[in-house]
Amino acid sequence: MDFSFTDDDIYIRSNTAEFLKRELEPISRKIDESGIPRDFILKAASQGIIAPVISSKYNGSNLTFLQSAIIAEEISKVDISMATSVYFLLDNAWPYIIEKYGSEQIKNELLYDVTSGKKFIGIASTEPSGGSDVAGIRTNGIIENDHIVINGQKMYISGGIEAAKYGGGHLTLFKTGNNGHRSITMAYVPANLLKIERLDNMGRMGISTCTMYYENTEIPEDYIIGEKDMGFYYSMDGFNHARISVAAACNGLSERILDLGIDYIKNRSAFGKKLMDFQAISFEAAELKTELEMTKLLTYKAAYLADKKSDELPVYSAMAKLKAPQLSLKILKSVMMWYGAYGYTKDAGLERATRGIYSYLVGAEGALNIMKLIISRRIFG
Ligand SMILES: Cc1cc2nc3c(=O)[nH]c(=O)nc-3n(C[C@H](O)[C@H](O)[C@H](O)COP(=O)(O)OP(=O)(O)OC[C@H]3O[C@@H](n4cnc5c(N)ncnc54)[C@H](O)[C@@H]3O)c2cc1C
Repeated sequence: MDFSFTDDDIYIRSNTAEFLKRELEPISRKIDESGIPRDFILKAASQGIIAPVISSKYNGSNLTFLQSAIIAEEISKVDISMATSVYFLLDNAWPYIIEKYGSEQIKNELLYDVTSGKKFIGIASTEPSGGSDVAGIRTNGIIENDHIVINGQKMYISGGIEAAKYGGGHLTLFKTGNNGHRSITMAYVPANLLKIERLDNMGRMGISTCTMYYENTEIPEDYIIGEKDMGFYYSMDGFNHARISVAAACNGLSERILDLGIDYIKNRSAFGKKLMDFQAISFEAAELKTELEMTKLLTYKAAYLADKKSDELPVYSAMAKLKAPQLSLKILKSVMMWYGAYGYTKDAGLERATRGIYSYLVGAEGALNIMKLIISRRIFG
């Protein structure tokens, strides 16, 4: 067993960190109010960190999932609102599904534009009636001659406004029969064909979360990803890969916040001592540092399993997604206590990060109980 990163991994981390310090750090505070600047996405694409797992055939960087996890970590160390890392992870995992299962025609139509930052690709699975029970979706698609007519509604979908404005769309799940999860089809639906409304979220506002209406929406049959009726399986594959970046992004945020907190307690004094000299505080820091190492190792293992194409990936990516956001919240709370009143100000940034992290606790990329369901099924069969 070798825990070391390769020279390439180390280079990708330092090069990405340097790029983000230069291009993202100066604008990161404003992202929550005014969105991720288009210009930044285009620069990130030239840097090779948009959809980096896509192969060089489509001008991608051909990186591993471990390397894309490293990038996700670095992004959320800088944009602690989580918006940029959400954009990154969706636009990595779902183009990967296109490359893995899509026809040559759809790959040619979309993937060059994704790696150049021109088009965004997300996932549209959740509906007003629920998100966890993917097999229970109600949106339906009728295949007629060489096109599909889709009717229904998706809700809480990330990136709808950005895709409609700049280009791209969502891998959309719809029913194509009455055989439960065995009759769900996945197809690319360009966002500009839809009526889209933005939801007013509590956090990570730099990327939109939307309701999307499909009202006799027509797309070419060629936009089906892979085979008809196989969409449920493709979506599970996508979520298993997306969850690695979710966990990595949470770990990046945790590391940044914990480092800031540790710096603070090294310097702040009370009762004639530094805060770090109170064991109640230094032991808490020791616990958090250890737990962070645990979630990072778990996440790297999930990424390693993705790169090995192991069938253990679903359970490990669920474990990483279960633990990483909970630890982020715990670290945010501890650091807020260490900061005292300063922690309660917007200037400290902890509230922005807390609002962002909650998206992963309530549901994005799968609710926590669903992660437990995946893990317990593996334990108990
Ligand atoms: C900011 C944000 C962005 C999102 N972006 C997207 C996106 O881009 N695309 C997309 O498709 N979806 C997106 N979602 C939706 C997300 O996938 C869902 O929130 C998630 O799947 C849970 O679905 P739900 O919210 O409908 O909750 P429900 O499925 O209604 O679940 C409600 C609660 O019940 C629990 N529960 C459900 N079933 C079980 C069970 N069997 N056992 C125990 N407990 C259970 C859940 O854990 C949860 O706590 C986003 C959500 C958020 C918050």
